[in-house]
Amino acid sequence: MPNLYFLICGFFCIVMIVILFFSKKRIDSKETKIYGFMILSSFLDIILVISELLICYFNYNSFTHLIVALLNKIDLIHYIFWPTLLFLYVYYITWGDTNRYEKIKNFSVGIDIFLVLIEFILPIEIINNEGVMGVAGIATDFVFLIAAVYLFAIIVILLMNVKKIFKRKYIPLTVLVVLIIIAMLVRISNPTLIIIPTILVFIDLIMYNTIENPDLKMIEELNMARDQAEKANRSKTEFLSNMSHEIRTPLNAIVSFSNSLLKEDLSEKCQEDLNCIVSASSNLLELVNGILDISKIEANKIEIVNKEYDFEEVLNHLTSLSKARLGEKQIEFRTKFDESIPKYLYGDSNRIKQICINLLTNSIKYTNEGYIEFKVDSVKSQDVVRLIISVEDSGIGIKKEDIDKLFNKFTRLDVEKNISIEGTGLGLAITKKLVDLMGGKIVVQSEYGKGSKFTVAIDQKIVDNPVINKETNILPELKMNFSGKRVLVVDDNSLNLKVAMRVLEPFNVEVVTAKSGDEGIDKICMDGNFDLVLMDDMMPNKSGTETLTELKENIEGYKIPTVALTANAINGMREKYIDVGFDDFLAKPIEEMELKRVLNKFLK
Ligand code: ADP
Repeated sequence: MPNLYFLICGFFCIVMIVILFFSKKRIDSKETKIYGFMILSSFLDIILVISELLICYFNYNSFTHLIVALLNKIDLIHYIFWPTLLFLYVYYITWGDTNRYEKIKNFSVGIDIFLVLIEFILPIEIINNEGVMGVAGIATDFVFLIAAVYLFAIIVILLMNVKKIFKRKYIPLTVLVVLIIIAMLVRISNPTLIIIPTILVFIDLIMYNTIENPDLKMIEELNMARDQAEKANRSKTEFLSNMSHEIRTPLNAIVSFSNSLLKEDLSEKCQEDLNCIVSASSNLLELVNGILDISKIEANKIEIVNKEYDFEEVLNHLTSLSKARLGEKQIEFRTKFDESIPKYLYGDSNRIKQICINLLTNSIKYTNEGYIEFKVDSVKSQDVVRLIISVEDSGIGIKKEDIDKLFNKFTRLDVEKNISIEGTGLGLAITKKLVDLMGGKIVVQSEYGKGSKFTVAIDQKIVDNPVINKETNILPELKMNFSGKRVLVVDDNSLNLKVAMRVLEPFNVEVVTAKSGDEGIDKICMDGNFDLVLMDDMMPNKSGTETLTELKENIEGYKIPTVALTANAINGMREKYIDVGFDDFLAKPIEEMELKRVLNKFLK
């Protein structure tokens, strides 16, 4: 009877596993199916062995002896199929669902059926000695031999994958093989010690808790799905970044050349056509940048880079930019900045600029007369200041029913009225996402036909005490004539070099060009008399960054201001280039205002 204690424990255990496994929602995979068969087989095995033991103990006679022998024969089927299932399981998780797996599976099952038939013919010996039951005989030896062959095959697979042994699925499998060997040795040394069924249940239990638990499987599948989604997203962002570079390079040439042609004396018809080209290309450029920004935000690739910055400088930059963008529109541009705002703040000045530029550009686009008011208020509490930035205009306004759609992607409102105004419908979607990302709020008030007011509230940390100047200083009138100064432009694309020469023309600088990083290095080494280097970053063979590093290594005390030039329009680029050693950054197509700022900074 002591044998029965072990088996009863095994019985409760397997009942629990079967209920848990089949009652939960499972991933429908082949390995899970194999495991399902394994536990059903163990369940059947333990029931048969317990029945045999009970018969032997309570009512053993010549008739029940036959029943016990028959039950044993049926039970031995389990000892052929269970190792096969374990073998197929290990094979499957190692090499996956291949054609070879299917062939091996069909072959093993076919062989097993054949072996079962032989096993039924072979004699079996029932040992019943005062309630201690066991089985012996050729049939059992035969089955053990088959199990040993499968076990050997499993060991071979595990050895072929030694490197994976420490991976999650392989640790339990290695333990299981060791357990099976121990059980078989015990069984061979003492046929009446019936521990194999319980050990197999124990193995099922280990597998359930380590690899085959439906919850674990779900988590694993979810993790895999997440990894795949992240990978796809990464490739999408990479593709977009490359695409932006590829599209922006020719676009850069179109925008720059058509802009410079505008200054020529052309016929009215040509002028009209040219205006169309300028506006279409600028719109396309805005669209490319917008798509890039929105996809980066959606892929969680936009980081908020918090740093110390000069808020007064940000306001000055925004004011001069807006005034320049007003062009010939007769609109009064007002600024009202709270005097108590600390000059130095800690936060992401680039994102704040981007948010304000979007709102200011919209107010300029959608206002034809009257005013635009750019106002910044603040509320301080300890070391945090809440900036309340508002842009109010007396423009066309927004219909009440359209307000909810404002922040949707690619949504342009009042299209009939705005037909002549360029836009992509992405600006406010990006603005809203950036404000959310910075933990802020954006609200809109608007009256159709009268005007709109966009208000953004964002918290920034205070760094220093001085406050901003109420009368903000618009950048001093930029110096335009730099005759006598020499600028080296390094770019692998000859069209880009032509564009650079064209945009630098009005400033009277002497422009020297180089078509590669190496040529740039040669020119600087032979004739280091340059006042500024504009260096494209994305060049074949040697990138701008590599060229600059080489220049700094080869020329002791290399001091020529070097500005990175790139069509990669992703925000946060300036910081990246300054970190790698450039003095500044210019995005292509080069904006006149930005170029003036850079020339003024380095050629003064
Ligand atoms: P875009 O200006 O490129 O079309 P936005 O996302 O910036 O895209 O704006 C979405 C829409 O919201 C615009 O098409 C316009 O109809 C409306 N809109 C935005 N700002 C204003 C404003 N200041 N006055 C009137 N309408 C505006």
